[in-house]
Amino acid sequence: MSGPAYRSYQSNVLIKEKLNNLRKDLRSAKEMDSVFNTIIKRLEQDNEDWGPSEGLNNCSISNDAVGALEKLGFTLLKHQNFVLTLDIDKNTMMYCATEHLRMQGVFWGLCAMDLLGMKEMMPLDDIVAWVKECYHPEDGGFGGNVYHDSHMLYTQHAIYILALCDALDWVDHNRVAFFIKDLQQGDGSFAGDKWGEVDTRFTYCALAALAVLDRLDAVDLPKANRFIVSCRNFDGGFGAVPDAESHAGYIFTCVGALSIGGGLDLISKQDWDVLAWWLCERQCDSGGLNGRPEKQADVCYSWWVLSSLSVLQRVDWISKSRLMDYILNCQDPDTGGISDRPDCVGDVYHTFFGLCGLSLLGFFRKHEKNTGFVVNSIDPVFALPRYVTKKLGLRSDKV
Ligand code: ZN
Repeated sequence: MSGPAYRSYQSNVLIKEKLNNLRKDLRSAKEMDSVFNTIIKRLEQDNEDWGPSEGLNNCSISNDAVGALEKLGFTLLKHQNFVLTLDIDKNTMMYCATEHLRMQGVFWGLCAMDLLGMKEMMPLDDIVAWVKECYHPEDGGFGGNVYHDSHMLYTQHAIYILALCDALDWVDHNRVAFFIKDLQQGDGSFAGDKWGEVDTRFTYCALAALAVLDRLDAVDLPKANRFIVSCRNFDGGFGAVPDAESHAGYIFTCVGALSIGGGLDLISKQDWDVLAWWLCERQCDSGGLNGRPEKQADVCYSWWVLSSLSVLQRVDWISKSRLMDYILNCQDPDTGGISDRPDCVGDVYHTFFGLCGLSLLGFFRKHEKNTGFVVNSIDPVFALPRYVTKKLGLRSDKV
């Protein structure tokens, strides 16, 4: 399917279904009824114009596989529906409040669908066209949305989206590498943008994006590694800057940056084990993982903690089955998607990192034979599907 379609045929079918359900609930509000009618007519017209998408027809996931996964407590079709209809509620407070984060949101949704083997159901051409609009050729960076200034976080996510859409050739790799290099500071750290805030997240984003562009040579890697090591604390963890409190999110960015930058051996094996202990102590009574001592468990730490343990080759130090149960309990039974904790509303961020957690725990692989459902497994360092890191020849180290 080609053309100006922003939503695929399949997502229109789902939107129509959702709107029809909403209309039933709001039967008394005549005005709303006519609004829904107009939208539904428009969607029907669009689908007549475009016809069924190839993605829908080529979707190789059988009803048997869907049923087998549901028996295991994984609601595949609800998650698919959740991601495909993400962009329809543009009038909600959440949509407006997260406008500046759109680049990351699109990546999380797209990559979640890719892990589930459903990427082709996304409007890939339109996503690439939108990413191009967020590019600033004058400095080589990408903003979080159209008309937003360039920033390291969004530049990495834009490069990742282009990689997922097989569209990396479109961008001038040297120009983007220059944007990133320009943000490296004298101490090896990276600022997020021209305003100069420094944070270990930006080092990870810089190195991950440069690796994808095959331009790691553009920055001073030994200095970047030394800065990360300077952010290590006595408990084995890492913070956002030197002397900042250890936090699982920052630990992932620091371990990931050292893994990409070839700096893991700057820390002794004994000291890495101190970190592994700190990480496995993040498992709470609920089976979920928290990000710091005394905090509640949250699905996203399934990723930050597990990916770090994976680089340290210590995933077996936590109870995998209890964590799997925790993530499955965080699925939203009504709308699909995964939330931060049980009985909360699903969102795209926790949906993506929950799926990544299930992938790293081997949930899908374990049941591959009886479900017939094969996911694209996630790379624990790059947070990209392994087939993508393989295709790009990306390298990362383990302890
Ligand atoms: Zn979270």
